[in-house]
Amino acid sequence: REMPGDPETGPRVRQVEGALWSAVDPTPVAAPRLLAHSAEMASRLGISEEHIASPGFARVFAGNELLPGMQPFASNYGGHQFGHWAGQLGDGRAISLGEVVNAAGERWELQLKGAGPTPYSRTADGRAVLRSSIREFLCSEAMHHLGVPTTRALSLVGTGEMVVRDMFYDGHPAPEPGAIVCRVAPSFLRFGNFELPASRGNTALLRQLADFCIRRDFPHLGGAGEALYGQWFREICEHTAVMVAHWMRVGFVHGVMNTDNMSVLGLTIDYGPYGWIDNFDPDWTPNTTDAQRKRYRFGQQASVAYWNLGRLAGALSPLFDGVEALQAGLQAYVDTFNAADRDNIARKLGLAECRDDDVGLMQALQTLLRDGEVDMTLFFRALADFKPIGFEPASFESGTSAHGLFADAFYDDAKRIATAPAFDDWFAIYARRLREDGSDENGPAATHRRNRMRAANPRYVLRNYLAQQAIDRASQGDPEGVKELLDVMRRPYDDQPGREAFAAKRPDWARSRAGCSML
Ligand code: AMP
Ligand code: MG
Ligand code: MG
Repeated sequence: REMPGDPETGPRVRQVEGALWSAVDPTPVAAPRLLAHSAEMASRLGISEEHIASPGFARVFAGNELLPGMQPFASNYGGHQFGHWAGQLGDGRAISLGEVVNAAGERWELQLKGAGPTPYSRTADGRAVLRSSIREFLCSEAMHHLGVPTTRALSLVGTGEMVVRDMFYDGHPAPEPGAIVCRVAPSFLRFGNFELPASRGNTALLRQLADFCIRRDFPHLGGAGEALYGQWFREICEHTAVMVAHWMRVGFVHGVMNTDNMSVLGLTIDYGPYGWIDNFDPDWTPNTTDAQRKRYRFGQQASVAYWNLGRLAGALSPLFDGVEALQAGLQAYVDTFNAADRDNIARKLGLAECRDDDVGLMQALQTLLRDGEVDMTLFFRALADFKPIGFEPASFESGTSAHGLFADAFYDDAKRIATAPAFDDWFAIYARRLREDGSDENGPAATHRRNRMRAANPRYVLRNYLAQQAIDRASQGDPEGVKELLDVMRRPYDDQPGREAFAAKRPDWARSRAGCSML
């Protein structure tokens, strides 16, 4: 609100020039009902469980009631979608309620997603369906607990209203229950917030926003002028690199990495058609509208992030005399990603450090995981229990030793058998490599290695089919599945006795995209 706002208020759809936000209130819903909340996020915000259980909480976080001091607004931004400039987009169904400063001095912005129309809703209704809201709610918190930078989720509220989206029954649109997620982040500023004023040639507004962003979200940066802007852009690049490297570590596919969905803080934002890798497949994408299935597939994410940063650099260029600082920032992305990738290799394989050869060792493994149709999460989790002592190639093929550890991770028996000799060879090299690290015994070194690997290779991830099961139950009126899944995802690196089913590989019914909605 320190920044220039739209003089018109309310949700009339319009092009908003010369302003970074529009005042608009959430549209009340018929029957707010709290379906789930994040206890961690609530306590972080200083909201008591008692308050959460009160009807007032559901009313506020459905947008039916404002608390004193709340001044709702929708943010104005543009973006490159699927490689093309898309013009003004903006918060079409998200409405920020304001900021909270907690007892620890942390500042958090609270934003309702699905709270009704805004000036940026274009032809859509500003609402969200239960299934996509569950997916955003669960994944935000799961990612946080996995150690991946992300926007958070405080609450999931059912609206008691039906929403018509892209589900069809017998050719007719099938209404679905609506819901609202309250998402939470120190900042929701996206690359697209900067691209829009730049695209309109409004350098003064661009500069105002950059200065605001630095002051609010990057207060540790010193200096002034170009040097400061250069340092700021570099940090955005570095944060982005770290985020994408985490995605690659845990098998997360964002699915819609448009510049309007890229946070300047390097937070994972906009859980639309995201998905998780089951069998390791760099070409997999959850996004059915990503026609050629190229742009937003798993293995493409580091490149697309770089491309997006290039668009941001272009937008910020009026703040710079030359291109050197922007180029240096982009190079910092490459360097940071490579360093983080090497760190992933060391941690996922349990090596004290990643040597140059180890990059090839990981690449060879990834080729095998792809060819053998192996579950990424199950494989890396089991790898911690691999014992290099006395490992001989034949033992893998012949069904003893390493083989038993990984048998569960294969989706296709024929492919398992076909790749066994190649896996044998790989394990022989890996065993030798572990011995070089002195981690071949059952002593403290081996224990240390295993613990390090388990901290990098989660046992539980939010597999698409697990989310779908929780969605199916919630659609029948029972939100307990959402709560249970959230509870499992609170400790993704711990073995949780009795919850083995949540670590199971994707069942056959969920193999095709038809089994699970990704949206
Ligand atoms: P996304 O693909 O989720 O990043 O959304 C792209 C743009 O469409 C953003 O400006 C969203 O706010 C807008 N949008 C998506 N869904 C809706 C909806 N149901 N109502 C209004 N605007 C929407
Ligand atoms: Mg978006
Ligand atoms: Mg979205």
